[in-house]
Amino acid sequence: MTSSSNKLQNHPDNYGFYGDFGGAFVPEMLQKNLLELKTNYKHLLADKSFKQENNKLLRDYVGRPTPLYEAKNLSKKYGAKILIKREDLSHTGSHKINNTIGQIILAKRLGKKRIIAETGAGQHGVATATVCALMQLKCVVYMGAKDMQRQLPNVLRMQMLGAEVRPANSGSQTLKDATNEAIRDWISHPESTHYIIGSAIGPHPYPDLVTRFQAVISEEIIKQLQHNYQCDAPDKIIACVGGGSNAAGAFFHFINNEKVDIIGVEASGLGLKSGKSAATLHLGSKGILHGCMIPLMQTSDGQITEPHSISAGLDYPGIGPLHAYLFHTGRAKYLHATDKEALEAAFELSMLEGIIPALESAHALAALKKLSFQKNEIVVINLSGRGDKDMDTYQKHLRNE
Ligand SMILES: *Cc1c(COP(=O)(O)O)cnc(C)c1O
Repeated sequence: MTSSSNKLQNHPDNYGFYGDFGGAFVPEMLQKNLLELKTNYKHLLADKSFKQENNKLLRDYVGRPTPLYEAKNLSKKYGAKILIKREDLSHTGSHKINNTIGQIILAKRLGKKRIIAETGAGQHGVATATVCALMQLKCVVYMGAKDMQRQLPNVLRMQMLGAEVRPANSGSQTLKDATNEAIRDWISHPESTHYIIGSAIGPHPYPDLVTRFQAVISEEIIKQLQHNYQCDAPDKIIACVGGGSNAAGAFFHFINNEKVDIIGVEASGLGLKSGKSAATLHLGSKGILHGCMIPLMQTSDGQITEPHSISAGLDYPGIGPLHAYLFHTGRAKYLHATDKEALEAAFELSMLEGIIPALESAHALAALKKLSFQKNEIVVINLSGRGDKDMDTYQKHLRNE
């Protein structure tokens, strides 16, 4: 056993840093809001009645615990015991609801009357609109104008749930621009509004806040392994990484368990060197975006490079500070999978196990072809979401399979 001085950070320091990454780089107008969150979130989350309300909703509304399913056919093919954590079975179809449930309870307890959020593909927007309907709070979701066209079904879902979807018409009219608009809105309504950020990114304390709400994933994995496999950790845990929230949740309780190989998978789009990719850890350099110091895909003079991935949920030019830290300390390994590899993995899971994964999650599955396994080692793959939303894309590739 290594000494405790080697212990890695799974929470940031008081300033929001994991090693060199994180922090809170925001205009003065937002400092009051962040201070309010920062001073309150830890003790509110530790509060007994908060936990009761959160746990009850996770159980009865979200459908937790999600199963840890032993994928027999996939296991046979790859020569390992492959277990799939079924976040795809959560209400609204992905892990995003774990975070929005937690944050809406927090917002209520802080006396907020109005919720804002940003969304790319619309999954976080839908998860936010859902909990706002549940709690009867006003909801405004910012979405890039281009994304609104590309993801019309999710726009309609948000509207049906009672949210107002506001187009972001600046820049590339995608996620980064929607985030800018949401931050602008928060600056003009600091008292009444809570901003629900959808990944483990943004200014402190958001990366930690989101990670704490998603950590239910690894908490459940431990219990399920103990109950069904007489062990308390997998040999490998694998998750896809966009901003990094589902991966942070899947990794959290294993960060200081050195027996576990932690493996994140970024999206390398058309290829790492193609100029059309979203593999931020592999291609990025340190900079500040949306309030925190993180690796960014940027030009030498600091202009953000437009990311590309076949999955809208991984199409972000940055990555959360916890992952940047785990990457730079060498604690976690980060692979990358191309659009094509993700598509192949999605068809493979569909045909071998009868589970159609989200395109994002398919990147995690694509890691199976890049790793080698000991016989019977336990490999847990976090299946962050379901594939219904991606049928348009899958349909174009059906005949090639
Ligand atoms: C949004 C999303 C992701 C990427 O976000 P993370 O914060 O990196 O988890 C991955 N999978 C699904 C299904 C998503 O909706």
